[in-house]
Amino acid sequence: MPALLDAQALHDQLALHGLIIPSGLPGAYGRGAAFEHVIERFDALVMRSDEGKRAQRMTFPPIVAREMASAAAAGQRWEHGLDITDGMLVPAACYPVYPTFSGLLPQGGRTVTVLGWCYRHEPSIEPTRLQSFRMREFIRVGAPSLVEAWRDAWLDRGIVLLESLGLDARSDTANDPFFGRSGRMLAQSQKEQRLKFEIMVPVMRDRAPTALCSFNWHQQHFTGKFGVVNHDGEPAHTACLGFGLERMAIALFATHGFRLRDWPASVRALLEIDAAIDDPAGAVVKQ
Ligand code: ATP
Ligand code: ZN
Ligand code: MG
Repeated sequence: MPALLDAQALHDQLALHGLIIPSGLPGAYGRGAAFEHVIERFDALVMRSDEGKRAQRMTFPPIVAREMASAAAAGQRWEHGLDITDGMLVPAACYPVYPTFSGLLPQGGRTVTVLGWCYRHEPSIEPTRLQSFRMREFIRVGAPSLVEAWRDAWLDRGIVLLESLGLDARSDTANDPFFGRSGRMLAQSQKEQRLKFEIMVPVMRDRAPTALCSFNWHQQHFTGKFGVVNHDGEPAHTACLGFGLERMAIALFATHGFRLRDWPASVRALLEIDAAIDDPAGAVVKQ
């Protein structure tokens, strides 16, 4: 396995291998053929899972009504400075899904999945921090206990999935270091309250591990706004789980090398990677 590079060196190697195509605007790269192939194969792997097969698929343009966006992201800085009258670019792929939920839910709630472009005004030299990128998201709506169980399932599943791809994945749900018997109870209740977790992987030598996958439990934030209730009349909750697809691809290239043909055979097999895509006609790959 190659050693991790600094943020700048990682950017330069991704560009040299034609994986990202600098545009002059930080965080706004074009994507080369092998890079897109990895994104497409990772997404296909996720969609082959039971969850992927069961979830209801939806596709939206990367824009939502301004009222919805401001309600969902009050106070976040991406909202400012966009000169759009009635629509706003979405910071997360799940935003357009919540307004589609209304009224009484079926027993067992619903699970929706979307793949969408997101926009965030956070220009950076880190190749993992883009101004526009894609997320594969799963959105769960249902009874609080169902949503909580779904969170726990994804926490395991997310780590197992990334580890199966040879990534050094850790979740950030570790509780604070309490000691003793009462401490263990405190730690447990802290864990149980967890509304957000991330799955992190080391990608750059000079940066903390990068979040590839994030889970957010919104409780009644959206269901309250859109009047969504469970089949039994009790308040419903929502939560979402998103994979940053460009970050996933970059983590794989940083970990396994910039040429698909150098990747471990097990990783290529799991993703069904076509290593011939390494050398698109006309690409100049300098070493
Ligand atoms: P970070 O702490 O790195 O800023 P975040 O907490 O903002 O991440 P979320 O808002 O939970 O991340 O977004 C969900 C997922 O989208 C993240 O797990 C990550 O994979 C991806 N993501 C977030 N911001 C970016 C970005 N600027 N460029 C590329 N991918 C991103
Ligand atoms: Zn989301
Ligand atoms: Mg962020």
